[in-house]
Amino acid sequence: MKRNYSIEELRALDQKHFLHPTSPVKTENGPAFIFTEGKGVYLYDITGKKVIDGMSSLWNVNIGHGRTELGEVAKEQMDKLAFSSCFATFSNEPAILLAEKLAGLAPGDLSTTFFTSGGSESNDSAYKLARHYWILKGEVSRKKIISRSKSYHGVAIGATSATGLKAFRDFTNSNAPDFLYVDHFSTKALRDLIETEGPETIAAFITEPVQGAGGVHVAPENYFKEIREICDEYGILMITDEVITGFGRTGKFFAMEHYNVVPDMMCFAKGVTSGYAQLGGVMISEKIHREFSELSVGTILHGYTYSGHPMACAVGLKNIEIIEKENLVANSAARGQELLEGLKALQAKYPFIVNARGLGLMAGLEVFSEGSLLAPQIVLEAAKVGLICRAVVLDGQDVVVFSPPLSISQAELKDLLNLLDKAIQEVENKIT
Ligand code: PLP
Repeated sequence: MKRNYSIEELRALDQKHFLHPTSPVKTENGPAFIFTEGKGVYLYDITGKKVIDGMSSLWNVNIGHGRTELGEVAKEQMDKLAFSSCFATFSNEPAILLAEKLAGLAPGDLSTTFFTSGGSESNDSAYKLARHYWILKGEVSRKKIISRSKSYHGVAIGATSATGLKAFRDFTNSNAPDFLYVDHFSTKALRDLIETEGPETIAAFITEPVQGAGGVHVAPENYFKEIREICDEYGILMITDEVITGFGRTGKFFAMEHYNVVPDMMCFAKGVTSGYAQLGGVMISEKIHREFSELSVGTILHGYTYSGHPMACAVGLKNIEIIEKENLVANSAARGQELLEGLKALQAKYPFIVNARGLGLMAGLEVFSEGSLLAPQIVLEAAKVGLICRAVVLDGQDVVVFSPPLSISQAELKDLLNLLDKAIQEVENKIT
């Protein structure tokens, strides 16, 4: 029989037994929140506190919390077939249908999917597929992967090694070889690096369409067109990491649609299931798939136990159906515009806000104060008044970032901005 634990007991057990991901190891009072329920844009914790999930948790709960349809689909699929392997060409219907659905949604000729369980695995898969592609093509020296400063690509050893935020790489002080970094907005720096290293040594360039965990950086308008041209000129594969930006987050189904650029490979995760199941993948172009088929003599020696997990894929299909039926991509664009306007209004009000930026429902508020970081203080005050947002302080930054569910209403967005205003006011009172 399940026992009822007191809040204090749960806090103590958490502190003793749960090593949290991307969290301080030591906490004075245990976990900041123990969540028990979610509904729409709101989360409720064990004390009964209600907060707006201004981050869609980890940029992923795109359709919002508490959509019971996804649980129903998951149960139906688990009752019928909870798991079967996708190795050795074994397959299952939800994986086949999701791969087909994604082919219809993805930009250009990205039409074949390799499934994973999340973003880090997707990026590692892309690096390995890119390197294997060059082996098949006889260009064995093409091993190096170039990524951008301030990028975040996850925490598997390959994904960490490609992450431009240095603190993540320094965490272990030992990374995978053949990863290189360029300034996040400079196409000249990329060209120079390719020339210095030798184009015949470069396998791929990976980029987020909008840098998320690195502080929400939107690239200059022609950046990706130029990147595509440089990759074509030097025969380098272009990989986009749409782990955050995919599935409507930026006001288009995939963010590369803003720039009319089609990559050779595209990684996704998070929004594909809105976090209701663990799923990710890397999509490859028709050309690469064809070349793999023509040149490959053996087996793709890369696969996760849960690649093509039937329940996760069934949840993904239902999640995409909801995004489409409820026009959540259009809502993301419209509410995103209002979010950005609201943040700009706050910038006009508070002298220490130096920049407000974003694309769709992905936004950042850059702050500055001599001698102290403000973003963590704003995030703390926001949580007190009922809003969850996140501080980015890595690489000398001081930014509060936002990515509320795509289902957010106009009224809820106003609430979010009002709560944020209150939190910022509190911080202003403290520092002046
Ligand atoms: N790529 C990007 C752009 C991300 O933001 C993240 C996670 O936040 C990842 C990859 C890693 O995904 P996961 O945490 O699912 O491994």
